[in-house]
Amino acid sequence: MDDNLARRLRFCTTLPSLPAVAVKIIDLANDPDADINTACDYISLDPALAAKILKTANSPLYKSRRSATNVRQAISVLGTHSVIVIALSFSLANSLIKHPEQYSSVFDNNIFWRHSIASALACRALGEKVGLNIPDDLLLAGLLQEIGIIAFNAMMPDEYEPIYASTTDHDTLLRIERETLGAGHDEIGYALLKQWHIPDYIALACIASHSQPPPNGNDANLHACVAVSRYMADYFLDSGDSGKISALTKAAESWLNLDGDALKDVIDSMGVGLSSVEDLFEITIHHPSEISGILSEAKDLLTIQILSRVQELEEKSQRDSLTGARNRGYFDETLKREFCLSTQHTLPLTIAMIDLDHFKNINDTYGHLVGDAILVAVVSAIYGQIRQNDTLSRYGGEEFAIILPGTPLASAKKLMARLKDSIADISHKLESNQSVSVTASIGIASLDGSKHFEYPANLIKAADLALYAAKNSGRNQIIEWNSSLS
Ligand code: GH3
Ligand code: MG
Ligand code: MG
Repeated sequence: MDDNLARRLRFCTTLPSLPAVAVKIIDLANDPDADINTACDYISLDPALAAKILKTANSPLYKSRRSATNVRQAISVLGTHSVIVIALSFSLANSLIKHPEQYSSVFDNNIFWRHSIASALACRALGEKVGLNIPDDLLLAGLLQEIGIIAFNAMMPDEYEPIYASTTDHDTLLRIERETLGAGHDEIGYALLKQWHIPDYIALACIASHSQPPPNGNDANLHACVAVSRYMADYFLDSGDSGKISALTKAAESWLNLDGDALKDVIDSMGVGLSSVEDLFEITIHHPSEISGILSEAKDLLTIQILSRVQELEEKSQRDSLTGARNRGYFDETLKREFCLSTQHTLPLTIAMIDLDHFKNINDTYGHLVGDAILVAVVSAIYGQIRQNDTLSRYGGEEFAIILPGTPLASAKKLMARLKDSIADISHKLESNQSVSVTASIGIASLDGSKHFEYPANLIKAADLALYAAKNSGRNQIIEWNSSLS
């Protein structure tokens, strides 16, 4: 961050100032020897804060612990560190949420804090799911991750207004800030948290969660939880948007290794903690009558995502990775099925074997990458000719097989003639402006009610023999099987 920005932040008078009790609690949070008595003394200075701590200690957020009737008991139930961090979350958010300053007409303080508190809750629930036993630190880091946006608004409301108004997408906003202001709200937020003396690991989590992917190293899981919680909150505030669910599942899977089912558990646990968190921060994220609908819709969308992911993976596992044609396994299965159908119902079925001519020469002359590009172009040329329920597979290196269900020999021959021409029409341009082309030899065989083809393998064998004959007769031609070829 440049010096000018740092100075503007340091001397900014429109930033909300921290309440005295928050300053004291920050001192405590930075003191490794903070003890129960000092924590008790500080919290008791602010009766509203003391009441919040008690309520939190007895809320479903800490469901498994015993109940507390005073601050001292709350500290012994939750632990000194937790109580300090909860007190810090509460006193910070309380002073910032209730801050009366209207920075600009496009910045909505209420939406900002609803988003931050939803992130805090999500961050805590995500951490619980990945086995991070620091629920309060997760909550605080989730809560403060976007504080730089407040800082920008306070420091330079007029300059920031058009930037903030230009997009509703977080990552785009960050990019535009970096481009036009020289720093993103991640850096400014970090600087502000440091200025407030917020413990370093929290400030670091806020900045690190903005890297994509979040960095490995110390606290990697904390940083990833914060990063993913933002996507969860994006969905929460704009529920029903399946694009936001996709962004969430992608982030959760790649940064936290959490799948859709795990995210459903996270959503359930957010549902349990929601009203306690709303109480703690005195803010309503969603009206209670909407919340169960929102949660179940999120889970429905996740289920749809899971199913379409499974289909996507299955589809991918059936294709050749270079060309996108079906692979050999899929071809074998399909041929078996179509062969049965055709023999049972005496329907026509034709298969074609296609082998590129002198392909080795192409590799030897222009290199393997050019060879690969031609294979891709050949597949796309073939897909341009065949119908949806025909099956094209990469049978071997530069050899392809096509299953044409319902297609008798005569029409298959016409189709193959067009297909052979479209392969010959490929003209692959090299950097030298030279172009490379290729031809194909094709063998075809049809199931025609004769007793020649008892099994699918016999049909393949026949098409292979025809292909061999096409090669022997000079290549670049189509030959259909006949019994003299065997
Ligand atoms: P013919 O006309 O007799 O079919 O001659 P050919 O050179 O095409 O036949 P051959 O079977 O001798 O060579 C096939 C070549 O295809 C050799 C191999 O390097 C190449 N090939 C196979 N798979 C790939 C691939 O994935 N990428 C590239 N670039 N080349 C491949
Ligand atoms: Mg070949
Ligand atoms: Mg070959």
